[in-house]
Amino acid sequence: MSTDDSQSRMEAIVSLCKRRGFIFPSSEIYGGFSGVYDYGHYGTLLINNVKQAWQKNIAQERLDVVLLDSAIFMHPTAWKASGHVDGFNDPQIDCKKCKARFRADHLLESFGINADKQPLEFINQELDKLRGEKKLVCASCGSADVTEAKVFSLMVKSNLGSPTDALTEENVVYLRPETCGGIYLEYKNTIDSLHPKLPFGIAQIGKAFRNEIVAKQFVFRTREFEQMEMQYFHHSSQTKELFEQWHKDRWAFYLEYGIPEEKLKWYKHEKLAHYASEAYDIEYNYAMLGGFKEMEGVHARGDFDLTQHAKFSGTDLSYFDEATKERFVPHIVETSVGVARMTLAFIDNAYTEEVLPATKEGESGETRVVLKFDKRLAPIKVAVLPLSKKEELSVPAKEIWKTLSKKMFVEYDDTQSIGKRYRRQDEIGTPYCVTVDFDTLTDNAVTVRDRDTMEQVRIPVVELTSYFDSLF
Ligand code: ATP
Repeated sequence: MSTDDSQSRMEAIVSLCKRRGFIFPSSEIYGGFSGVYDYGHYGTLLINNVKQAWQKNIAQERLDVVLLDSAIFMHPTAWKASGHVDGFNDPQIDCKKCKARFRADHLLESFGINADKQPLEFINQELDKLRGEKKLVCASCGSADVTEAKVFSLMVKSNLGSPTDALTEENVVYLRPETCGGIYLEYKNTIDSLHPKLPFGIAQIGKAFRNEIVAKQFVFRTREFEQMEMQYFHHSSQTKELFEQWHKDRWAFYLEYGIPEEKLKWYKHEKLAHYASEAYDIEYNYAMLGGFKEMEGVHARGDFDLTQHAKFSGTDLSYFDEATKERFVPHIVETSVGVARMTLAFIDNAYTEEVLPATKEGESGETRVVLKFDKRLAPIKVAVLPLSKKEELSVPAKEIWKTLSKKMFVEYDDTQSIGKRYRRQDEIGTPYCVTVDFDTLTDNAVTVRDRDTMEQVRIPVVELTSYFDSLF
């Protein structure tokens, strides 16, 4: 896909998301607030379904994973123990002329240089080479007057307690930059209360905050976002086998929800964080972003996390295995994905433009935009569309809406032509439209239209609930 194609696809999707109430730029009436987004009605339903799908797959359908909802604020020492206070940085360069900021590693990447997790020294050496070749220019204004790289902390600071306190080393607290921190701190309470046997996992969904140098590419990289993370505690002898199993399971999840295999690939991190033994990302080919990008990480973290928190807190976080009589600090395999990155992949995959055949009534001669979501992810499952606003149709139509809405989100729409109403439902990805027409009054049946095939079938009203039960 050329840059032009990906850009126009990006514009079309961003525009659809706003126009149809999925995703809005935050604080727009104040001119916007960079790197933060709000989710409208359909966006809220969509991300709820995405989160539910993840939770079902990772916890509900397994006996060995339990849930957690830990607080955003944690004891500040926890972030010292984890290494975030000193080491959660990205390399930043500034344009001295237009003041634009860039991630130095991303800039090097655009020249084919892999600077992922490389030390500042390496990054500056590579930047110097480019400078020498007169290739290092500001991507925004073209000036060659750019600074060398320096580290920029991604931690977002806050202060709790007295609001008059200035932010000092002592009173600073952080908004968590990832949700797994809370899992390590509640590992002991989980063991003591639920008594799970190793290996087992703790999964949670929650907000995370990062002071990203550049927040761009729509909701792919934002400063406030949600993560879905699972930490799987085990004996180190099982790491290899479990790592492979989680690889398979996470990959299978995306296939199950309609992402074709050719749009996914594994990226192996060559340069590992000092504690990690293996790190892979599942990359999705975001057509709207012009190629493969990290969607989810699957990492083997060793025993670093529990060892560090045991050391800094003074609490014993070791595990005693009754069967082998061995005491040890559990190792961890982690799976970690952003709600928005996953949702964006589902939107990108679902977004389809189709030129309609000139035959079907109300559906001819135009391009229809349709979000072909997996039905389980679709924000609205069914739309009830009476052909007329007259009472003789609106009464039975509302009755149908009332019955179906007890089970799922169902929309009722009686405005404009039926063709326009189909278009609206296609654009928000509603799998089925139920049309109530004048024949309904005599045959007690309705027309059900399928979003993807646009085929229509006549179904008796009394059978509608069981019909949809079988489809969902
Ligand atoms: P990147 O290299 O893209 O900055 P990362 O390797 O720092 O990401 P992790 O710390 O491994 O990301 O976070 C796990 C997951 O959380 C990512 O795979 C991604 O899905 C999500 N994520 C991380 N940062 C952001 C962000 N700023 N906005 C949205 N999602 C994010």
